[in-house]
Amino acid sequence: MSEILRVVRLKKWFPVQKSFLERLLAKEKLYVRAVDCVDLSVSKGETLAIVGESGSGKTTLGRLILRLIDPTDGRIYLDGQDITNLKGEALRKLRRRMQIIYQDPYASLNPKMTIGDILRDPLKIHEIVSTEQEAREVVLNVLERIGLTPAEEFYSLYPRNLSGGQRQRVAIARAIILKPELIVADEPVSMIDVSLRASILNLMIELKKELNLTYVFITHDLAVAKYIADSIAVMYLGKIVEKAPTEKLFKASMHPYTQALLSAIPMPKPLHTKTRKLEIGGEIPNPINIPSGCRFHPRCPYAKEKCLKEEPQLIEVDRDHHIACWLVSK
Ligand code: SF4
Repeated sequence: MSEILRVVRLKKWFPVQKSFLERLLAKEKLYVRAVDCVDLSVSKGETLAIVGESGSGKTTLGRLILRLIDPTDGRIYLDGQDITNLKGEALRKLRRRMQIIYQDPYASLNPKMTIGDILRDPLKIHEIVSTEQEAREVVLNVLERIGLTPAEEFYSLYPRNLSGGQRQRVAIARAIILKPELIVADEPVSMIDVSLRASILNLMIELKKELNLTYVFITHDLAVAKYIADSIAVMYLGKIVEKAPTEKLFKASMHPYTQALLSAIPMPKPLHTKTRKLEIGGEIPNPINIPSGCRFHPRCPYAKEKCLKEEPQLIEVDRDHHIACWLVSK
């Protein structure tokens, strides 16, 4: 499969806002290192899940990929084109090729607009249709496809008239209506009733096949990632610490942090896996004060002298299996 997305040494550091007095006394500028040198590649038609705890930087990474925020450093390539510094009309055209599905189906839809207007808007902005009638037909077709029927009825409803699951279907419809190549889905099922999650994920899987989509799927939930993703990248404090095809990651994860995340998933029956059971304590550290060496060392039961001083790089240890840990690199 050919590559659709590549990010190279991507960084997003947010300056810490301080009071006037603190600024006077401060010796150096402080930054929240939300994304701190990430390399990533996604193939056409792939679903890559980015997994991590809250504060790992996964949402910031998704927003960088979509060019919703500017990186501090690094490059982003879409289909071989460097899109890092696109501005104005070129950036507007790019928006059509990359879309987002937000976490909160309640906040992401304008409550004053009908579902029909919400879905017609992008068609008008990107001049996909030339008449109102054409726009209406496209919207009705998409509503049918995402299972909001009778479509004519949903067309005139407002978001407040819909359940959480139905709203997220509208958000998915808004993302696909422009026929994008890449969709970043940021925790798209985490605020939806557990009983409805599988149906939303299944809809996304079907749409991916029908429309040749590629997903970057951001989630804190490894079980959801396992359900939908072809491969998984695990993020910790702004860095990717392990990346592998989904099956390989579940059967033979090597990074202690991934093993701890896997150990926390309730499993109906034990997995036949080589992965060690591991529990970690404590919280993810403050991204302003990143620990020295391996940033996971304060929570890692296997930390050794070298881990405190030197930062391990992400290296390929097996086919398509990358890991940043001194346990497996020299
Ligand atoms: Fe643990 Fe050291 Fe590996 Fe970091 S490099 S995960 S501290 S063993």
